[in-house]
Amino acid sequence: MELEDNEKKDSLKNFRSFGQQIVDTASVFYRRGWLFGTSGNLSAVINETPLQIAITGSGLNKGKIDLSGLIVIDVNGNVISGNKKVSSEADLHIAVIREMHAGSVFHTHSVWSTMLSKRYLKDGGILIRGYEMLKGLNNVGTHEHSEWIPIIENSQDMKTLSATVTSILRQHPEVHGFMLSGHGLYTWGKTPEEAERHVEVIEFLLEVYGRGNAGTDNIP
Ligand SMILES: [Zn+2]
Repeated sequence: MELEDNEKKDSLKNFRSFGQQIVDTASVFYRRGWLFGTSGNLSAVINETPLQIAITGSGLNKGKIDLSGLIVIDVNGNVISGNKKVSSEADLHIAVIREMHAGSVFHTHSVWSTMLSKRYLKDGGILIRGYEMLKGLNNVGTHEHSEWIPIIENSQDMKTLSATVTSILRQHPEVHGFMLSGHGLYTWGKTPEEAERHVEVIEFLLEVYGRGNAGTDNIP
């Protein structure tokens, strides 16, 4: 009983601290044009066993949310607490958390991820290499690193899409993110800070790729 109470206390503490980081980051990302409309969603694991995830609610302007804009879901995407609607994309967050052992998953709808994911869907992804900024990705120590960003065809069938995402991540366990075609970017980290850094680094690299030599070095 005491253990259960402590677990509840920990998950509430994590909800408040990770939740505030999500709220603050969402506001910054909104202003950078990565979460326009009511698009995108940000999540963080607040309890590992049983799995509990704090995630932004569906249909909200992510530039203006506070902690009441978050809900807590379980491993099946059922809402445990909060009064907002769960996004259908929560299934993809759960898939990434389970497959990559991520502590936090951020999903953005930027112009560059939307454009490039559509343009290079036929190649199955894009290969980015030779940029100093790559070192901002976890476990990457040199600009000579080649980062493969898989592109998966967009779908509204979240069960099938989750299975595809899981299978692609299993084939490419070294990746730091993937894109859905004509839709946006998913990336993750051990913590919300790491996920935030990965969004910034990958969005930067996508823009460089898109503005620069896109198509000339897209060799898997
Ligand atoms: Zn989306």
